[in-house]
Amino acid sequence: MPFQQPPLPFGMNAMKPFLSEEQLEYHYGKHHAAYFKNLNALVEGKPEAGMSLREVVVQSTGPVFNNAAQAWNHSFYWDCLSPKGGGEPQGDLAAAIVRDFGGVPELKKALSEAAVKLFGSGWSWLAADKQGKLEIMALSNADTPLKHAKEPLLTIDVWEHAYYIDYRNDRAKYVEGLWRAANWDFVAKCFSAAMK
Ligand code: MN
Repeated sequence: MPFQQPPLPFGMNAMKPFLSEEQLEYHYGKHHAAYFKNLNALVEGKPEAGMSLREVVVQSTGPVFNNAAQAWNHSFYWDCLSPKGGGEPQGDLAAAIVRDFGGVPELKKALSEAAVKLFGSGWSWLAADKQGKLEIMALSNADTPLKHAKEPLLTIDVWEHAYYIDYRNDRAKYVEGLWRAANWDFVAKCFSAAMK
């Protein structure tokens, strides 16, 4: 199999009370796993099988894109979360947030609103361009900043499968909970990498 689902970077029961074990077992173990399974079947014997997952996301369209992007987006989403998350961004990232949004509370409000208002399935992203300018991107279905020549820094999965077991229809409550698990160290690493 050319593409392997990376291990979840925390235990299935490590994200309580933000996400239950059952929520993670379905989201990581069923939904995310299925995108890898589908992708591997779609690229069998094709040039994409020899590319990195990120290259496939950038270059492909149609069902290959949908499954590759969902595989990549979810791996990125898990890295945005940590049982030791929450708190506040520091250093250059914090300075860029103040410059482009006015402050961390303003960034959280803008990203949360994009997540809550996104119609249907998709992802709310904090992204940066090569100069380090930050922006919010509300993208439908599997779409990702990688497809728009932007570097993803932080994402909120707002497909219903991401929160329905724990929050039912209350997407806003799920989004609010995410801030207490946000892995700002990972976001800062992505921000540094965006400008290289
Ligand atoms: Mn998902």
